[in-house]
Amino acid sequence: MKKITNAKIVCVLYDDPVDGYPTNYARGDIPKLDTYPDGQTLPSPHAIDYTPGALLGSVSGELGLRKFLEERGHTLVVTSDKDGPESVFERELVDADVVISQPFWPAYLTAERIAKAKNLQLAITAGIGSDHVDLQAAIDHNITVCEITYSNSISVAEHVCMMILSLVRNYIPSYNWVIKGGWNIADCVSRSYDIEGMNIGTVAAGRIGSAVLKRMKPFDVKLHYTDRHRLPVEIEKELNVTFHESVESMIKVCDVVTINCPLHPETEHMFDEKMISKMKRGAYLVNTARGKICDRDAVAKALESGHLAGYAGDVWFPQPAPNDHPWRTMPHHAMTPHTSGTSLSAQSRYAAGSREILECWFDGKPIRNEYLIVDGGKLAGAGAHSYSEGNVTGGSKEAEKFKTVD
Ligand code: NDP
Repeated sequence: MKKITNAKIVCVLYDDPVDGYPTNYARGDIPKLDTYPDGQTLPSPHAIDYTPGALLGSVSGELGLRKFLEERGHTLVVTSDKDGPESVFERELVDADVVISQPFWPAYLTAERIAKAKNLQLAITAGIGSDHVDLQAAIDHNITVCEITYSNSISVAEHVCMMILSLVRNYIPSYNWVIKGGWNIADCVSRSYDIEGMNIGTVAAGRIGSAVLKRMKPFDVKLHYTDRHRLPVEIEKELNVTFHESVESMIKVCDVVTINCPLHPETEHMFDEKMISKMKRGAYLVNTARGKICDRDAVAKALESGHLAGYAGDVWFPQPAPNDHPWRTMPHHAMTPHTSGTSLSAQSRYAAGSREILECWFDGKPIRNEYLIVDGGKLAGAGAHSYSEGNVTGGSKEAEKFKTVD
């Protein structure tokens, strides 16, 4: 295959910290991993031009790609200005060959935008979850879409466990009493329980879902899962996990439900009012998969009525969430901005993965099958396994309503 030269790469990253790009870090290094848990090898670019553990996901970090791209004669444009027709992204997209975007601050590649991007051949998701791309339009326009499979799956699994414990033990309100100068033990514990003995279920037992099951097992809970494909029997035995044919069958027995499937037409608004009404009264829902898998207003309503005891996650729709998004103010939530998959540890892996993909692309070499979502006009690789055709970007224009808060 022919080598690609003189390409234009548009990379959309979140803003630098309000205090400026860091000059030093809380820790000197990050652990070096040998492989992912299933034996998949870590990203393997020929070289990297950053120090692992540095902030790479914000504009000044540039995913550590500038030196590499410019030395090869390519043009790199990095911006956080991604929403609206006047945005830098929309302007630069017109003659871009490659777009890179992170799910935390997604550059929505709608059909409308794809139609304007006449040169676009490759859309890289620096992370996991390519639902911000209209995959149907990518299929129709023969654009390759790929993501850095496994790069932040364990980061998210750790976050899920933290959020389950935070909700059930009522951690955030208790922390807030300390900040307020109080010692209000009864206020703190009147919604605080042990998770021991609880039924905990995951919607999907892929890389994240199965890592959550593995991590929750030592808490002596009863584990459940539902998925399109069943786990190997020896893993089910090892985890002592019960398989359910349907989401409905699982949620009705669970005290805690965690959502770990991709967002695609089959899962969009899966947790609507009807589904939530089938959950146990007092159940907790943790969603670090994608905001749109849940119905925004149904979640807020279930918390207000007390049907759900708590909701946590880091994913919203759209992103950034408008300042008046009801999940910012609904009761008993433990939401964060979309951060779970962009720890400094994760950034190092998906920056390396982005570079590996670019090296392959420019050198005319095949991209790893496990990174592919759409290729050759159809779902491919990880995409063929875990997604369905179609588009879930509808409504993403609402991200324009967000106003920066310093
Ligand atoms: P995997 O591909 O390993 O797992 C996804 C699993 O979802 C697969 O087992 C798949 O089933 C299953 N699935 C797909 N559709 C359905 C469905 N309709 N019902 C039940 N199960 C379904 O991906 P990861 O575990 O690594 O990531 C999962 C998702 O988590 C990502 O797509 C992304 O949206 C989100 N994520 C969030 C991050 C964050 O920062 N908050 C970071 C990383 C990921 P099968 O393959 O068996 O068909």
